[in-house]
Amino acid sequence: MSLSTETRRKDALALLSLLYVKLGDSPIDCTAFDCADVAYAAIQKTSWEELVSEGLLAKRGNSLYFFTAKGWSEALFRCGNPSGPELNERLGKLSKVLKDSVKGRGDSVLVRLDQVTIDSGLSPGWVFNAIDARLICIFGRNDAGWVEGARGRLIEVPRDFGLMEIDIFADLRAENLKLAETVERMEELYADYRCSFCSSPLISRTPWEHEYGTEEFSEYACGMTIGAPHGDAPCTKDPKFPKFVDYVLDAGIDGDVWRCYATAARAQSPASLVQLYPTYGQTEDEARESMRKRCADRAKH
Ligand SMILES: [Zn+2]
Repeated sequence: MSLSTETRRKDALALLSLLYVKLGDSPIDCTAFDCADVAYAAIQKTSWEELVSEGLLAKRGNSLYFFTAKGWSEALFRCGNPSGPELNERLGKLSKVLKDSVKGRGDSVLVRLDQVTIDSGLSPGWVFNAIDARLICIFGRNDAGWVEGARGRLIEVPRDFGLMEIDIFADLRAENLKLAETVERMEELYADYRCSFCSSPLISRTPWEHEYGTEEFSEYACGMTIGAPHGDAPCTKDPKFPKFVDYVLDAGIDGDVWRCYATAARAQSPASLVQLYPTYGQTEDEARESMRKRCADRAKH
């Protein structure tokens, strides 16, 4: 019988919580959990794998699992009490010791984990986990981290460590920072979210179907299109964008007004990329002049 997504998720979270309680203040790199242990008899076997696939646990051998740094901080936030006084107090003590180590220094400093443990009075396992998970960084400040190749032994504390306020939960700046980071990440994820020539924003994205499948038609505020059914219009800042001279004008009487058409001077002309609707006038000159204006307006887009 296959379990519903909801049930599987609940079971995986229950396991995460169970392991977090069992871990206590032990260091994550030295604490293995055996899934064959009777303590986990009520847990679905698939939950262990689920946490591994989410990068929250790491597997060794057939039945041993360890918390990853990400798994530990995730468990702390989900199952611990992230805004409670105990965590705040611990973070405060750890921050103070690290901050004191860079006080008056012009550069980052290296401190030993055991020294930090002694000076802060905190449990060595918890300090290891907090540094490993870059917990202070998660809370929105410049964090200290392991010196490469010296995990668990040597900590590098940046010169500007902990520049922000201690009470990050009440700190709006942290929220703003997070927001700015999200926007930045969004922009990275959606590189096509802005025109590559002039950075105008994407204004619409519409799927359309053709005989081979579905295409997406994107239109930017500058008028550039990508994936349009009848060919794309370039950005007005693109050197490929047509100039007035790329068009041939053709004026004629239409009833009692003059009408002017603009067509591409030659087949490969840039003018074939940007269509201009016909213009009208009382005289031939007026109709042509109106087309010249239309072309100039379109180029300003
Ligand atoms: Zn553009």
